[in-house]
Formats: sequence, C-alpha cells, structure tokens
Amino acid sequence: MDRAAVQAQISRIAARMAREKDRGQVARYIPELAQVDPQQFGIAVAPIKGEVILAGQAEQPFSVQSISKVFALTLALSRAGAGLWQRVGREPSGDPFNSIVQLEYEKGVPRNPFINAGAIVISDVLLEGRDQQAAIADYLAFLANVTGESQVAIDPAVWASERATSARNRALAQFIAAEGNLRHPVEEVLELYFQQCSLALSCAQLAKAGRYLAAGCREMGAGPVSLPVSRARRINALMMTCGCYDASGDVAYRVGLPCKSGVGGGVLAIVPGVAAIAAWCPGLDEKGNSKLALEALEDLAQSMSWSVF
Ligand code: GLU
Repeated sequence: MDRAAVQAQISRIAARMAREKDRGQVARYIPELAQVDPQQFGIAVAPIKGEVILAGQAEQPFSVQSISKVFALTLALSRAGAGLWQRVGREPSGDPFNSIVQLEYEKGVPRNPFINAGAIVISDVLLEGRDQQAAIADYLAFLANVTGESQVAIDPAVWASERATSARNRALAQFIAAEGNLRHPVEEVLELYFQQCSLALSCAQLAKAGRYLAAGCREMGAGPVSLPVSRARRINALMMTCGCYDASGDVAYRVGLPCKSGVGGGVLAIVPGVAAIAAWCPGLDEKGNSKLALEALEDLAQSMSWSVF
C-alpha cells in the first residue's frame, strides 16, 4: 500500500469535509449523542502491517454504537459456531435498524446480527456460561486485544442515556423472549447490549480494531478468542449486505467495500488484504448512516481504486 498516497488522499478529504455545510443530523433519540458537535470529522487507515495513517480528528473518541455489532458477532461466532445461525439470519432486513415488524412474521428470529434485534440475540449468546460482568469484560478484553490498547472503555454517560431511552430496544427484546429466542433474562441481555454499544473509540483505534477483518483473522488472532481465516470473509460479507441498515445496497454501490455504521456517526470499512478504514462525522442521513463519513469513504475508495468488485 502506498502510504504517502493514502495520507495525501485522506488529508484532502478531511479538508473537504471541514468545508461541507450539509452535515446531516446528529442522532437525537439517545440524548447524549445529541450533544456531540457535528462539525467534527476524522478518518484513519490501518494497513495490515505498519502504522495507522490519520487525518482530521482521528484521535477523538466517539461512541461506536452499532459498529460494536461486528465485534460482538466475532466473539459470538467463536463461541457458538455455525449453530448461531439457527437463532439469527443472514439476510438484509430492508427495514430500519430498530424495526420490530419482521420479528412477528419471522417468529422472533431477527434477519441479521447487525440490526438491533439481531444484536440483542448475539448479546444473549455472549452471556452463555458467564454473567453480565464477565461477558462485558470479555468483550472489552477482545477490543483491547484487536486495538492494541492496554484497555478500552465504555462511555458511562452514553450507557446511562441509552438505558434511559430504551423503550424500543426493550420491546424488541421482550418480543424475542416471547418467541423463545432468548436464554437469559431480558434485563441482563439488554444491559450487555447497551454497554457494548456505548464503547468509545477514536478512528485510529477503530481502524486498528478492524484490521483482523482485512488481514484474515489468523494474522491478528492472539488473545481471548481464536479466529479462523474463513470467518473474516463471512463477517465481511455480512457487513457488505447488512452493515448499513436499509441503505446497505446503496453503500455497496457507492463505496464497494464491506462497511458497518453506527448512529454515533462512525463507519468501519474493510479493504480485504489491504487495510481497515474508520471514518467519523456525527451527522446522520435519513437512514441513520453518517452522511459525511460515507461520502469520505466513497471518495477514498474511488481515489485509491479500492473495491471488492
Ligand atoms: N445503541 C443504538 C440502539 O440500540 C445502536 C443503534 C445503531 O448504531 O444502529 O439503538
């Protein structure tokens, strides 16, 4: 990978994004996220080997929100293996990330692990054989491992804010429980889910965290879980088809890389065999994806000729 070319492109993109007037809307349904300054923009590229390349506010921590679903899925697959797919599907939902309608038609089996309903089932899997404190400790240890940090942290204000405004997620969890697809108490499952979403990482840390998906898991697989190479490909496939809510098809068309977004304004993108990219800008488009982070990824992918197609 031509590091100088990547640095030049992301510096240009960060300058372009600083000038943008139309920045989308910060998420308001989690009050703590509504406080975040929409003017911020950061981007980081973590090559499989070598130092991470930064531009803009790439070292400013933000709430990863749904991007956490990639890491939770990785852990859950390492524990439950393919049996997991009895309890959650692998199809795009075509509905908003917090939609409840499909659950009724499909008997409490969420469409995929990257919408809220699916991630709630994944939290339930992560509670197998451990209590909630041990489960979140394992998740944080995994993140510390893949970011290369001595520790990573949950933002307690975001966590409290999520819990206080969780009626919709509670409805999803209760419905899944009613259909028999949760094995642990709803409250414990939700606490783990809220904590996992409230993880704060910078673009630099998030890009480093995503490297195991760019490298094929084996390269980065030391630590609390073992990660076969084929798993990276499958997680990338799910990011491509389901990672950006009901705009996943449009993001595949525009960016051409597996992406996972979160309502904190972050997007993680994977260039298989090359690098992981994290872009962040808090304002969201009408589908809940960061407006400018996606524009930045589209620009970078085109200018570096990065695409899986
Ligand atoms: N914690 C958020 C929620 O449960 C995550 C949403 C997202 O980033 O898509 O609604």
